[in-house]
Amino acid sequence: MILNLARIKQTPGSVAEFDFQKQTVDLDFKGQDIKKIGPVKVKGQIENLGDRIFQVTGQVEVAANTLCSRCLTPTQIKLNIDLSLKFSDVVSKPGKDEEDEDIILFHGDEIDLYPQILEEIILNWPSQILCKNDCRGLCPNCGANLNLDSCECNIDNIDPRFAVLKQLLKSD
Ligand SMILES: [Zn+2]
Ligand SMILES: [Zn+2]
Repeated sequence: MILNLARIKQTPGSVAEFDFQKQTVDLDFKGQDIKKIGPVKVKGQIENLGDRIFQVTGQVEVAANTLCSRCLTPTQIKLNIDLSLKFSDVVSKPGKDEEDEDIILFHGDEIDLYPQILEEIILNWPSQILCKNDCRGLCPNCGANLNLDSCECNIDNIDPRFAVLKQLLKSD
């Protein structure tokens, strides 16, 4: 996902469009959990704002096959992320506005968008993925998928963490 700026670098106001697609992407959640996702589509434009600042705007479209956080059923999700990034090839001068803090430094005539795209996807990844809004999850006792079966366990709809507590109180 390399943006070549050679054509627009000398002319403030000039714009270059881009359109990338990657079939599979490895998302690394801090080394704890690596997810294979894809396809990932990235589309947008980069504009020379002058002052050696370049503005990227666009959309990232992500599809992923993952598991429901509650019942572990394979679940497909789609994310649409708005992209808005500023790049510069000069270190910002001291005393500049605070809003310039988010400017990403690059060197030469090329910007590799890929690391930024990975970061955006991780930032926007949902904390919980559900196969359906009212997913009933798995029985904490026997593991039955409660969307498909009702099981024989008498769990009184108790949160499993409280069930342990109840057990402790009983044996006291
Ligand atoms: Zn589910
Ligand atoms: Zn059960």
